[in-house]
Amino acid sequence: MSRYIAAIDQGTTSTRCIVFDQHGRIVGLGQREHEQIFPRPGWVEHDAQEIWRNTLTVIEEALATTGLGRSDIDAVGVTNQRETTVVWDRHTGEPVCNAIVWQDTRTDAICDELAGDAGPGRYQERTGLPLSTYFAGPKLRWILDNVENARARAESGDLCFGTIDSWLVWKLTGGKTHVTDVTNAARTMLMDLRTLQWDSQICADFGVPESMLPAIHSSSQIYAEVAEGALAGVPIGGILGDQQAATFGQACLSPGEAKNTYGTGNFMLLNTGTEPVKSSHGLLTTVCYRIGDEPAVYALEGSIAVTGSLVQWLRDNLEIISSASEIEPLAASVPDTGGAYIVPAFSGLFAPRWRPDARGIICGLTRFVTKAHLARAALESTAFQTREVSDAMRADSGVELTTLKVDGGMVVNELLMQFQSDILGVPVVRPKIAETTALGAAYAAGIAVDRWTQDDIREIWAEDKTWQPNMADTERERRYAEWNAAVERTY
Ligand code: ADP
Repeated sequence: MSRYIAAIDQGTTSTRCIVFDQHGRIVGLGQREHEQIFPRPGWVEHDAQEIWRNTLTVIEEALATTGLGRSDIDAVGVTNQRETTVVWDRHTGEPVCNAIVWQDTRTDAICDELAGDAGPGRYQERTGLPLSTYFAGPKLRWILDNVENARARAESGDLCFGTIDSWLVWKLTGGKTHVTDVTNAARTMLMDLRTLQWDSQICADFGVPESMLPAIHSSSQIYAEVAEGALAGVPIGGILGDQQAATFGQACLSPGEAKNTYGTGNFMLLNTGTEPVKSSHGLLTTVCYRIGDEPAVYALEGSIAVTGSLVQWLRDNLEIISSASEIEPLAASVPDTGGAYIVPAFSGLFAPRWRPDARGIICGLTRFVTKAHLARAALESTAFQTREVSDAMRADSGVELTTLKVDGGMVVNELLMQFQSDILGVPVVRPKIAETTALGAAYAAGIAVDRWTQDDIREIWAEDKTWQPNMADTERERRYAEWNAAVERTY
């Protein structure tokens, strides 16, 4: 009898539920977008209740498309947009405010204050992260400081904090289970990377009562059974931050293996094995995954805030395309960008520069430049930012990139994939199953209930298409130098 594993993939733009068979093939899918709320410049919010309602709906849709019932599903894994911060009332389940999304920069002043004389590297040794608006800890501090009564309620034990994984597991279990996994906890700035426990000193510095924090577990174990919705009774067996899930789903299970995900932002992760590697080139040190009681596996990560969301911006704010897929034919209608560069520093710059004060620019404009050139420049900015991160990764790890495994919503864009290969000078490989994030969470859940092993993951991975570099070295370096000059103008 065939058995199945489900994954809930709660992303920045949408929530999906995907049902996989034993060969890692997709047999059912439900998907819903949620509202992006921009109350002020630099602020980005989501409604956590909307995300929860969408989660229930997509689970039902995914099951309906398969004709399967909950008894056919052996386990469910949860993967999520990371860092996005929810605080809710432990008794009523009501969030105290909208979720503050990872791209939100309102905590700039809090980060400066926490950095003090020690600078943004104050907690890097213990957390692997520079102080940045990106991480959950400063967002949680903002809520405690700014939402009426939040601090008093938190101190009397009435509030729970969680990243989206914790929020969803809490809701799925009917408010019974308040947990997170090591990969999500690693993005709060409140966890010690080596002990994998909350760091009491950092929590005290941030003014965060530890009673509101979830229990930290591995990424693959049975945490609880689902109590609410169409998967009631199914064990939750995996929790992984979306980028770590994609790394797992891409079978980057050995030190030196890397993947790059092209979604709202871009995230390159390099598996560095069971020891955290400190970055001196602007990368993050993070937990890659932890399977049950096995030692944690770590990663170096290059996070880029804005890639696919620049395409959304061209669609929604400039209205030069009406859907994301239109960008490719428009960009392909011209041979180059006509000298234009777009640096989309909408949330400041993340890796490798970490400049919260940077703001986006379009430069190199002449009367010659059309919307087609801008479309092309938008796609190229994704590839150039990736080149910066890949250079930093080589400098930190000493590992030479030989091929790049890619996934995410933008990798359907062939023009981008070819340009990426050109600007890196290495082949770019897309796997057959592009839904690597959901697949990684399904693998974690499947391992917890003994349906899969890590060897199965390696076996299931299969190539779909490879792009070979096709640009002269001099041209590549000239373009990259022009890009770098443009970036220098954003701060
Ligand atoms: P996330 O998981 O961050 O929500 P996805 O992996 O679903 O994101 O990717 C969605 C992103 O991909 C969107 O930002 C969208 O603009 C972009 N995108 C979708 N289709 C294309 C395309 N054909 N070309 C370029 N970008 C695209």
